[in-house]
Amino acid sequence: MTSSKYLIVLSFDAMSSEDYHYMKDLPNFKFILNNGTHIEKVTSVYPTLTYPAHTSIITGMLPKNHGIVNNTLFQPGRMSPDWHWYRKYVKCPTLYDLAKENGLKTAALLWPVTAGANIDYNLPEIWPNKWYENQALVSLLSGAPCYILKLNDKFGKLRKGISQPFLDDFILQSTLYTIKKKKPNLLLVHFTDVDTNRHLFGYNAKESIDAIHRHDFRLGEILKATKDIGIYEDTTFVILGDHSALDEHTIININVLFKEKGLITLDSNGRLKDWEAYFSSCDGSGYVYLKNPHNSHLIKKVEDILLNFIKSGDSGIEALLNKDQAISLGANDKCSFMLEAKKGYYFLEKYTGSIFEKIDESLIGVKKHYTMATHGYSPLKPNYSTIFTAMGRNIKKGGVIKEANIVDEGPTLAKIIGISMKNTDGKVIDDLFI
Ligand SMILES: [Zn+2]
Repeated sequence: MTSSKYLIVLSFDAMSSEDYHYMKDLPNFKFILNNGTHIEKVTSVYPTLTYPAHTSIITGMLPKNHGIVNNTLFQPGRMSPDWHWYRKYVKCPTLYDLAKENGLKTAALLWPVTAGANIDYNLPEIWPNKWYENQALVSLLSGAPCYILKLNDKFGKLRKGISQPFLDDFILQSTLYTIKKKKPNLLLVHFTDVDTNRHLFGYNAKESIDAIHRHDFRLGEILKATKDIGIYEDTTFVILGDHSALDEHTIININVLFKEKGLITLDSNGRLKDWEAYFSSCDGSGYVYLKNPHNSHLIKKVEDILLNFIKSGDSGIEALLNKDQAISLGANDKCSFMLEAKKGYYFLEKYTGSIFEKIDESLIGVKKHYTMATHGYSPLKPNYSTIFTAMGRNIKKGGVIKEANIVDEGPTLAKIIGISMKNTDGKVIDDLFI
């Protein structure tokens, strides 16, 4: 098989396998479905979060092996912890590293966990999280400065912070510019319009479905750009998702329970003073970390507290996983337990206030962390898988594959551009190819 000279990977964040239902009636998605091969159900990683999943997509590894076990870093006491923005957190080779080692030109637009990565044209997803940081400066220092300045200069006016659809409109124009002016062999693009609208309005809200329609338009513009410069025939197009989303009505604050049980102590100002056990949220699931993870007495004590909480009534918790169970699902091997929320519930890290909070719809977008739908749950929850479709010279036309795992995507994407990704948790999806 001769490899594809160009590979364009478009990640449409939070698009679900259930969305094929809409995609098949939209012109550009329909075109790519009819002329390529799609996978009906792609199982994501645990936790089903953007950063762990995107890193699995480009490494072929499970979170416990690539190191991005949550969107955020574990920073007890911080209500808005820093995110895993930097490439340095990824513990294994990535698709863009291998591509560059093989002499290919690479580009990435808002692909998670690429700040500081060795990518020729890179606009990393990173934003200021401290009052003294400046958005333009943190991006410039962690990406490709001339390229970012050019994109901001040409298209920056389209953007209104990270609000949608403006951000994705900016990313679309930046993508078209990059295709036409830079012709990268590997282009990775992350669009978040559907994800943002599902969080704000709900899984199946009109706003979320409208965002799928906008993605169809964006796909059409990208197909057209490759035709305009004569590289369409030499390009393989991949559209994929990272996870689905589920509607919700109630927040669970496990750290409030830990505080009530004396495992978390606060100072006189209500700030975190010390902790023996701390819950780190992954939205639909979360990790329990112990300050001394080898203290068997503490492990038993925390397990009893959690089991009693679950037994006491409607806890909103579907499962308590021990460390070995979490590891077997690919999650962080440093945790002592994981909690999986029932559909309709999700976790925050707050340690003050009450354990349960009903979500007030009128405060969505006003009160931080209030959302109508989220992810992070077990990838095995029903109707919760994501999408993958490829179209190109070496891809079967009109093919349908029943299922795959998201860790299979890394070695498969590598194969498309003629690279071998070795020693991965996933395997090449051979049925995709002619
Ligand atoms: Zn996501």
